[in-house]
Amino acid sequence: MLQQTQVKTVIPYFTKFISKFPKINDLANSEQSEVMSHWSGLGYYSRARNLHKAALIIKKDYGGIFPNKFDEILSLPGIGPSTAGAILSLNNIEPRAIMDGNVKRVLSRHFFIEGDLTKAGMLKKIWKLSERCTPETDFDIYTQAIMDLGATVCLPKKYKCDQCPVVKSCIAKKKNKIELIPQKKAKKQKRKIEYNFLVIRSEDSFLLEQRDANGIWPGLWSFPTLETDEKVESWIESNTGISKINYQNNIDSFTHSLSHIDIQINPVIIDISDSKVERLKKNMTFIKAQKINSIATSKAVKKIIDRL
Ligand code: SF4
Repeated sequence: MLQQTQVKTVIPYFTKFISKFPKINDLANSEQSEVMSHWSGLGYYSRARNLHKAALIIKKDYGGIFPNKFDEILSLPGIGPSTAGAILSLNNIEPRAIMDGNVKRVLSRHFFIEGDLTKAGMLKKIWKLSERCTPETDFDIYTQAIMDLGATVCLPKKYKCDQCPVVKSCIAKKKNKIELIPQKKAKKQKRKIEYNFLVIRSEDSFLLEQRDANGIWPGLWSFPTLETDEKVESWIESNTGISKINYQNNIDSFTHSLSHIDIQINPVIIDISDSKVERLKKNMTFIKAQKINSIATSKAVKKIIDRL
């Protein structure tokens, strides 16, 4: 959960998630949709899918016990070398280097590593450094400490060198070039797209459609999404059999930002309270507004329902 997401945001999700799925087998024995609904709102949904897939593998191949060998952990979906290293080091199993954003910042500043750390050669260099710094004993304490140092003291802008235990040997501090390290990579321009969201409402229920496994919001339940040049009425009739639309209105458009894309969403509100729904596609359902948290939806869907 903490990949790309702040602790403050994660805490309520984590508490709920762990009380619902306290053991690996609880996760493995659940449907993916149930796991997704507990992730709903956190974003980066591939993490939830990988967690569920990993639980299934651990149940099948390791009898429900988390493996304790680096290569076995690394082969689980969603786990890279840094996460595998953190699992082994923090659990005091074997000394392994880690490389999250905080650690990268501390090491690159302390040893004054200039250059773009996203480049393969530079990344290799800083990994080597991380391996060299990881001690043979007390590696669990070291690993937690360097992560915490980056998260609380060696902050990107408000660094607190006066509280830093390694200030005396820090080269960036000595050179007074802390803010230049690590070098920032040029920000890519985000792609922009525009969608009409079809908010079909029948009293206090909304029509949602489960999205494809690929693309934006994969596998999540969402309002039907129409390209801006598609005709609303004909889409409704051909996809739901609803031929009588009582009322059509719009609420303000808004921009919903994902990591790689900005989506302008134009909600088109359609009330069908006394219309007959003759057929619905298999991947469509009506859900009551108060039940929206029980299924996996995006923040954009919840935002619209909250406004209505
Ligand atoms: S002395 Fe300052 S820049 Fe250097 S590691 Fe500590 S907090 Fe970071």
